[in-house]
Amino acid sequence: MLKEKDKIFNNLYGDKSYSLTDAKNRGDWDQTSDLIKKGSDWIIEEMKKSELRGRGGAGFPTGLKWSFMPKDPNSNNYLVVNADESEPGTCKDRDMIRNEPHKLIEGCLLSSFAMNAHNCYIYIRGEYFNEAVVLQKAIDEAYDAGLVGKNACGSGWDFDIYLHRGAGAYICGEETALLESLEGKKGQPRLKPPFPANKGLYGSPTTVNNVETIAVVPAILRRGGDWFSSFGRTKNTGTKVFCISGHVNKPCNVEEEMSIPLKELIEKHAGGVVGGWNNLKAIIPGGSSVPLIPKSTCDTVLMDFDSLIDVKSGLGTAAVIVMDKSTDLVKAIANLSHFYKHESCGQCTPCREGAGWMWRMMEKIARGEASSHDIDKLLDVTKQIEGHTICALGDAAAWPIQGLFRHFRDEIEDQLIKKVRAA
Ligand code: SF4
Repeated sequence: MLKEKDKIFNNLYGDKSYSLTDAKNRGDWDQTSDLIKKGSDWIIEEMKKSELRGRGGAGFPTGLKWSFMPKDPNSNNYLVVNADESEPGTCKDRDMIRNEPHKLIEGCLLSSFAMNAHNCYIYIRGEYFNEAVVLQKAIDEAYDAGLVGKNACGSGWDFDIYLHRGAGAYICGEETALLESLEGKKGQPRLKPPFPANKGLYGSPTTVNNVETIAVVPAILRRGGDWFSSFGRTKNTGTKVFCISGHVNKPCNVEEEMSIPLKELIEKHAGGVVGGWNNLKAIIPGGSSVPLIPKSTCDTVLMDFDSLIDVKSGLGTAAVIVMDKSTDLVKAIANLSHFYKHESCGQCTPCREGAGWMWRMMEKIARGEASSHDIDKLLDVTKQIEGHTICALGDAAAWPIQGLFRHFRDEIEDQLIKKVRAA
């Protein structure tokens, strides 16, 4: 279990105020200018040593991503922070913004400096109204104290930070749709390449990072990349905030060591599964878009990128959705299918047409009106959508269905046969 002294987010539950005074008492904004004076190469090197992988879902190595940004001082680089947290089951960035906004703002300054960016935008989902109010107050405090703005922290680096509220579309969490929306256009993903590091916001080099990724940067730089990488396993390092919801006794957000066993995470922090571990049916381990895993896998799997890929799922946003034996899994996944159908931006045919078709087929199965042949057809369609769309929403719509039938097809077919016989 992660020791209190090793936690980065020491006010995640809002026990103390988010104000600048309290944030400083917790260690934020401590000698920030000294970190800047060590130079951008040093910062990027420490980030590489930390082996931090992006916390928004894709898990790309952060230090490497930053190193793609042009170093030319005349290049108009941007850092954009993705606070459009919309993946069902995910609520970690919300608590960081509510209770530790200064960690994020300090992280924005240090990360922007490392990437030669004088301007940073934080794109926050429209529904996070109260969080946007808190964050703007914290940004104002930071300006008033000279921590950001001209000569930020007395470091000689000029840095401006802007908060932008979205209008509430899941797809704006996709980095290029987010950039389109930030530019005032319809939030639709762009074709890649070009990638944002070459042509991002307003056509300039841009890095888009998740809130948690940026908020842990000050701690990594103060304590060292080696300190961060001492937690977890190789390539799966650091501490991580997990969101645990569903059929557990105490749903919570908790910061833990990466690679903690899933069972331990739930039993130690969420009060266990309702009715006990043996009442567990399945878990979605990384937010709604990753395939579920059955109890037999949950018994031993570790909560990290590579362990979950090994069992054909993913860490995603580390949103753990627990489903006990009372769950109608077909209905649960059909509900997710409806969500993805609703959130498809409609640009590409496999996603626009396929997401709705998959949802209707899932509803047919849930009503007990489908056959084994229908399941084959449905799985075939998921394969035609997966990997054939502009952005990952197509995959996100297909994977939960694939996960469901990978593990529970026999059980679902038995139920269908029983319903036909009873009719
Ligand atoms: Fe839009 Fe779906 Fe295509 Fe993504 S995959 S660009 S959400 S239609």
